[in-house]
Amino acid sequence: MTPVPYETVTDACLRALEDIVGPENLVPRDRLPEEYSHDEMAPVCGWAEVAVFPATTGEVARIMALAHAHRIPVTTRGAGTGLMGGAAPVAGGILLVTGRMDRILEVDEANMVARVQPGVVLLTFQEAMEERGFLYAPDPGEKSATIGGNVMTNAGGMRAVKYGVTRDHVRGMEVVTADGSVLCLGGKVAKNASGYNLMHLMIGSEGTLGIVTEITVRLLPLPEVLTTLLVPFARAEDAVALVPVLGKAGIIPQALEFFRRDVLESSTDYLGREFPHGDAPAYLMLRMEASSPAEMDRLIDRTGHICLDGGAEDVLIADTPERQKALWDARGAFLEALGWTDIDECDVVVPRDRMAEMMAYADRVAEECGLTFSSFGHAGDGNMHINILRGDLPDGTWERRRDAAMERIYQKTAALGGMVSGEHGIGYSKRAYLRAHTDPVELELMRRIKDGFDPRGILNPEKIL
Ligand SMILES: Cc1cc2nc3c(=O)[nH]c(=O)nc-3n(C[C@H](O)[C@H](O)[C@H](O)COP(=O)(O)OP(=O)(O)OC[C@H]3O[C@@H](n4cnc5c(N)ncnc54)[C@H](O)[C@@H]3O)c2cc1C
Repeated sequence: MTPVPYETVTDACLRALEDIVGPENLVPRDRLPEEYSHDEMAPVCGWAEVAVFPATTGEVARIMALAHAHRIPVTTRGAGTGLMGGAAPVAGGILLVTGRMDRILEVDEANMVARVQPGVVLLTFQEAMEERGFLYAPDPGEKSATIGGNVMTNAGGMRAVKYGVTRDHVRGMEVVTADGSVLCLGGKVAKNASGYNLMHLMIGSEGTLGIVTEITVRLLPLPEVLTTLLVPFARAEDAVALVPVLGKAGIIPQALEFFRRDVLESSTDYLGREFPHGDAPAYLMLRMEASSPAEMDRLIDRTGHICLDGGAEDVLIADTPERQKALWDARGAFLEALGWTDIDECDVVVPRDRMAEMMAYADRVAEECGLTFSSFGHAGDGNMHINILRGDLPDGTWERRRDAAMERIYQKTAALGGMVSGEHGIGYSKRAYLRAHTDPVELELMRRIKDGFDPRGILNPEKIL
């Protein structure tokens, strides 16, 4: 069956959209800033015919009803920090930007939950909760992302090793469906076994199943004592091989990151800062939490011994907030320091005990394909960011080598029992790899779910599937 073509945004539609959001909250194609044509991974690009900036659920619902009636594509954009082209309006149509929906609606201390609009910025929210004595545990690296974007990509980040990913912290949500209906899923409850869990289908759906207009997230008490350990290694394999050993010994840090010297050097150059013990080939960095200084001392002692037995050169302790900040600032700048237009990334996840094998394989692929990789990862989760650097390769050579290397990495990932994406999602740029490495029956079920939620195919077309 030939799909019905999308309609363009006519003058009448523009006027209807203006009525909904007000003329000051609508930007037509000819005045759209370039940044709205892509996300942080710039090569995936598409221009919307109009961008709208709604402030309420009611406005989003009316926009969707209009789009549904006319079969106009709608791409939702949070902060546009995604890395897979998810927020790029590749099919044209309407770009719905959530930036004005940026209010923290409620902090319910008794139930330890907060209700927010989707455009609330992660850092703003984390800081606001900390001021009230709460931890919002999800901690993806890019703090200017929105909570809505985090939920819709099921973002991971540093603290996932102890606290889980964004999904584990969502209790409820309000969603506008493709035809403009408003749906409440979940709530403030701590458990829910009431039929199919549509909320969890929405989480990580990258704007292809609905538009989230309100989110209820869970809050935790702030940890009492935090310390960071920096553990240098002469051999990268020893560093990653230690991760399952720590887990088995019952040591679950708040964050457990792996990186090599090359990534660290780009980051310190980029920030213009020194890094302590910056000349080791590889590192683990652990943020430990404990309920008292005495418990922290015992934890550091045990962790230190395990690291040294596992081949660490040293165990350095950063116990003041300033020293800890300096280390995590360097870690936080890894991706930016690599530069945007000249990299592509595999965000693979493998079982933790297969990470050393994956890393050694990636090194071989880089050498055999004539490419430079710059890799680091959320080691505690088996999640590796293998960044392929273009250097000065000409267009055709770069594309051929990159595609060959990626295919080999994804094949190896599948062979090790891993997944195409650990946390950045599929978006536009990794669809072919999802198709190639997912069971056809699973893919068909995903397609039917998409059809069920969005029969006219207007929600973020050409993404994921
Ligand atoms: C330097 C850097 C570090 C990063 N570190 C991490 C990390 O550690 N862990 C991690 O997981 N990611 C990381 N990311 C990726 C990125 O920040 C996340 O994917 C983030 O969740 C995207 O949020 P956003 O608001 O920018 O969403 P956008 O990029 O605007 O959108 C992402 C997707 O969500 C959809 N979407 C957004 N809002 C809504 C909504 N309200 N309703 C429906 N769909 C919506 C969009 O259509 C799109 O498909 C990093 C990115 C950068 C640049």
